[in-house]
Amino acid sequence: MTAHDAIATFGTVDGQLAVGGIPLERLAQRVGSTPFFAYDRALLERRIALLRATLPPDIELSYAMKANPMPAVAQHIARLVDSIDVASALELRTALDTGMQPERISFAGPGKTIAEIRQAVASGVVIEVESSTEAGRVVATGEDLGLRPRLAVRVNPDFAIKGSGMRMGGGSQQFGVDAEAVPALLESLASTDIDFQGFHIFAGSQNLRAEIICEAQRRTVELMLGLAKASPWPVRYLNLGGGFGIPYFERDTPLDLEAVGANLASLLEDEIRPNLPEARTVIELGRYIVGESGIYVTRVVDRKESRGQVYLVVDGGMHHQLAASGNLGQAIRRNYPVAVGNRMEQTALTKVNVVGCLCTPLDLLGDQVPLPEADIGDLVVVFQAGAYGLTASPTAFLGHPMPPEILV
Ligand SMILES: *Cc1c(COP(=O)(O)O)cnc(C)c1O
Repeated sequence: MTAHDAIATFGTVDGQLAVGGIPLERLAQRVGSTPFFAYDRALLERRIALLRATLPPDIELSYAMKANPMPAVAQHIARLVDSIDVASALELRTALDTGMQPERISFAGPGKTIAEIRQAVASGVVIEVESSTEAGRVVATGEDLGLRPRLAVRVNPDFAIKGSGMRMGGGSQQFGVDAEAVPALLESLASTDIDFQGFHIFAGSQNLRAEIICEAQRRTVELMLGLAKASPWPVRYLNLGGGFGIPYFERDTPLDLEAVGANLASLLEDEIRPNLPEARTVIELGRYIVGESGIYVTRVVDRKESRGQVYLVVDGGMHHQLAASGNLGQAIRRNYPVAVGNRMEQTALTKVNVVGCLCTPLDLLGDQVPLPEADIGDLVVVFQAGAYGLTASPTAFLGHPMPPEILV
């Protein structure tokens, strides 16, 4: 994605970038300080409407809350999706606070503590067990509390997905129960008092290639139908994961969602409905829902030149938006789209470096980016900041204050 595309997504008012129709400088005054994160509720609605229009109607849409757990964002999204996936006790509480029904909340993630398992069993959410020992702890907790735990098995598939930013399935993994070990686990659970739901496979994140996602979904369904034959209970839940990527960098092209939708429609019709007519089929997305709806807004505190290069020093940085500095799992650092949010009418561009206020060369938000002539007091915006922004950043590093987050 280019800065130009990102600007078009938000729109402009009076020569300024707009969020929810409010020009950026006015929004900064309303917040009262910089830096801050702003999320656009209309963009969230538009994105989920696109998913609803393109994926088959009986695909359930789940929001993976770790992408952005801000309570107001979670609350807004909860009204628009069918379910929420959480990965900690705090996310669980935030999800329950939205009013989402417990049976529509799934709890995944390795290393759930006994305390988290107790909270999950007591609240009645679907616990996606990541190992056979964890399944044992869930069963024991259910007996202890006198409740029937809702349990699904996260499966580590016997295939891997190419082209993902982060691979989370296939080969040896900390995630899930190896597919070949699942039948024995189900057999060992057969005599226990659990409310068995089904299976979850999440093979990888940030994939922009529809043909790879489609292939992963086909193999996921095939594997799940095979495992369902080994289940002592009817299988009512098939969580196919997600992994839909968004374009962060200039040469990235958006995912072909139509192709993914068509593939899911044929899988539902030919494979899932004939074999498991009662199963809910779930697609679980984080960044695809929230990533493009958010911006990180900073103010220029200094402008300097050093041996022929211009530096815009801003009041934010990698302590709030680690991903844009290239230090969150990128092999080669590339620039996220950036803009000078109060100078949208200016087209004369010069190449500058946008650096944060931390005392480390890692704190680089833009490396030789073409921007309008900017000076102290101007607002520099980093796009694609709606997912894995604030909560995926080392906010305590150097002791600057936490930035506010707003939903506009
Ligand atoms: C992180 C995660 C997701 C969301 O990944 P995105 O790339 O943000 O869509 C979905 N499911 C599970 C199990 C996860 O751990």
